[in-house]
Amino acid sequence: MDDHGLAGRLAQVRGRVAAAARAAGRDPRKVRLLLATKTQPADLVRAALEADREARATDPTHLPVLVGENRVQELVAKGPELAGLADLHLIGPLQSNKVNAALRWASCVESVASLELAERLSARAMEVLDVYLQVNVSGEASKHGVSPSQAVDLAGAVAALPGLRVAGLMTVGARSDDDGVVRAGYALLRGLRDQIVASGTQTATELSMGMSGDLELAIAEGATLVRIGSAVFGARPT
Ligand SMILES: *Cc1c(COP(=O)(O)O)cnc(C)c1O
Repeated sequence: MDDHGLAGRLAQVRGRVAAAARAAGRDPRKVRLLLATKTQPADLVRAALEADREARATDPTHLPVLVGENRVQELVAKGPELAGLADLHLIGPLQSNKVNAALRWASCVESVASLELAERLSARAMEVLDVYLQVNVSGEASKHGVSPSQAVDLAGAVAALPGLRVAGLMTVGARSDDDGVVRAGYALLRGLRDQIVASGTQTATELSMGMSGDLELAIAEGATLVRIGSAVFGARPT
């Protein structure tokens, strides 16, 4: 895939984010872009980061893009080539035996869904680690995440652990053609975030929600970070 196409698609996504933010009466700069880079080679990710750097040279209001990996294995493989170029987030489930490997490369783990994992991260983190709690807003059995009814309690317990900073919530939206269903899930996440902040975890402001197909719905419901893969890198081989 040529780099020119990459820059064009990145600009297109920036445009969609800005339009959605404006439609919702929000500041487009308050919606961060994370490139979801699963299955993409490090070279291509670096080309996307370079395209982002060039775009920001002409429009410095944008914050640099983040990079999100789903699998620790890919994080470890690409980490050495991406470190220093972008902040890396882990956006997929983390098994307890891979905590050290994840901590080596990720500045943020967005997929914390149990106190047990949070305790392991807390015990091993060398410096303060940002975490998001992943919530399963759709209730789909295939999806990772704490149930909405347990999210507020989990946030309080995780926030009490040393070495972790609860920075917000993350979800993967409902798989549905009905925009109303998808939006309701995102609204649910926003309501949980508001409850968590009100109950004392004031750092938990971020809402990581929305992907290539539904970023507009997520931004309308308050997303502060959208995770974009195929709209930038093209369809993944299936
Ligand atoms: C793949 C993935 C994305 C991006 O999905 P696209 O539809 O390709 O934009 C976002 N979040 C997570 C957790 C993912 O696994």
